[in-house]
Amino acid sequence: MARKKVNLYQFSNKGTQAERIKHALTLLELDGMYGSFEQLAEEGIKNHITLYDFLETLLEKEVVLKEDSRTVRWIQQARFPWQKTLKEFDFAFQPSINQAFIHELASARFVKQGKNVIFLGPPGVGKTHLSIALGIEAISQGYDVRFVLLNDLIDQFLKCDGNIVRVQRLLATLLRPKVLILDDIDYYTMGEDTSEFVFKLVIQRYNNNMSMIFTSNKSFDDWGGLFVQRQRASSAIDRITERAEIVEISGTSYRLKDKVDSKKLKGKSVVVN
Ligand code: ADP
Ligand code: MG
Repeated sequence: MARKKVNLYQFSNKGTQAERIKHALTLLELDGMYGSFEQLAEEGIKNHITLYDFLETLLEKEVVLKEDSRTVRWIQQARFPWQKTLKEFDFAFQPSINQAFIHELASARFVKQGKNVIFLGPPGVGKTHLSIALGIEAISQGYDVRFVLLNDLIDQFLKCDGNIVRVQRLLATLLRPKVLILDDIDYYTMGEDTSEFVFKLVIQRYNNNMSMIFTSNKSFDDWGGLFVQRQRASSAIDRITERAEIVEISGTSYRLKDKVDSKKLKGKSVVVN
């Protein structure tokens, strides 16, 4: 909810006491207290609750509501293409993944340490799902996150049309969030300017100890194309991997799960790449 501009803070002297309290809570945007104070006050009187306990419970309602709406807002701002959580991830289907390690990453300690996370593996094994899930966990720990498909980032750069102000603004939006998810590092044939932009982004985030999460179905050797010049590629990839947790997934695409299950039921063996 966007903050309303208030021109005058004034306590109302109209209406009943409950109405005056509601007016003040609206003015102060204390929606959590607004929704609960009447019932809490009634219960408090019946159960001989102290004023301190009453006030504490009331404040807790407000903090919980503010935290819920912060999470919702930050998830929207992260621009995830879709939302998936760790709970929705079927680890049994992907035994190559160390579940305990993913839960350690979910603690967002890697963000505090300024480390990167790199998910590598073939299409459909859940790299994007896990990067979004870690992004949501990081948000719940108080870190802001931005998700961008590398292809879209390149498009956004090209749309700046070489205008320095626009390029700087784009760079700033990608440097600001504590966690930047760059999804789908693939083969690229791109111009010198684009490559330099991606290089700058990687180096500046590294220098600022700001985490990135990468997903790719290509090995690091194939990431070179992203940086055009060999020198630039090796120095960027060195920095990306220097403080990185690498999760290699070597399973079957989840998109083929149903096919695999139904074929198993029919007693046929299946080989899926
Ligand atoms: P990748 O990025 O590796 O190509 P995705 O993360 O896009 O794969 O996964 C493809 C789809 O399958 C998504 O809808 C994702 O939520 C789902 N998915 C993949 N792996 C799992 C899993 N182990 N458990 C539950 N859903 C999964
Ligand atoms: Mg993906």
